[in-house]
Amino acid sequence: MSSSSGFIVVIAAPSGAGKTTICREIEKRRDDVVYSISATTREKRINEKDKIDYYFKTKDEFEEMIKENQFIEWAIVHGNYYGTPKNSIKGLIEENKIVIMDIDVQGARSIRKEFPDSSVLIFIMPSDIKALKERLLNRKQDNMDTIKKRLHNAKEEIEKIGEFDYIVINNDLDKAIDDVDGIINSERLKIFRNEKLIKKFKEDLKNEERIL
Ligand code: 5GP
Repeated sequence: MSSSSGFIVVIAAPSGAGKTTICREIEKRRDDVVYSISATTREKRINEKDKIDYYFKTKDEFEEMIKENQFIEWAIVHGNYYGTPKNSIKGLIEENKIVIMDIDVQGARSIRKEFPDSSVLIFIMPSDIKALKERLLNRKQDNMDTIKKRLHNAKEEIEKIGEFDYIVINNDLDKAIDDVDGIINSERLKIFRNEKLIKKFKEDLKNEERIL
């Protein structure tokens, strides 16, 4: 088991930039990564499953969860509620896990505020607006109005890129996944995330000196 401490990786991007696929692939590739399943009031898409893709909730249920303080953060995105349940996120971090979450820019900001030292914010960019539009149209999940709303939001989200730590361009999915994987590896190796290991090494050195 690693003795470094865990952290949260927030993946944010305009819709259609491929962030859900990236999160899921990273989760498959690494056994130290856990995907945080959000709750939402948006309608379930044909290919989605409750409790796997999202916890699908009614508006009343979601508002009840807000009242009961069950979210680390929540936001209204494209007219629907979305939120990150508290679950065991803090516990997972203490167990050295990396919690990956696919949330919007407002959510990213809340996570940074709540976990200033334990959050890494990655912004995924499509190669260009044409690619983004094509991806939204090709996935045939949303109607034209929704697509328009999502493109409009993309403009506002890109304005907030300065609040992020890293940018990953998703021209080529495999390359983007490798980039996120590389960021996670580097973050794992930061000195301040390895204090326990360093402390133990120092103590062992002291003991060794005593014996000699
Ligand atoms: P979609 O409806 O396409 O699955 O997601 C719409 C947007 O909501 C995406 O930008 C996604 O990252 C964001 N989102 C999903 N879950 C959460 C969450 O728990 N909190 C916040 N703030 N945004 C979320």
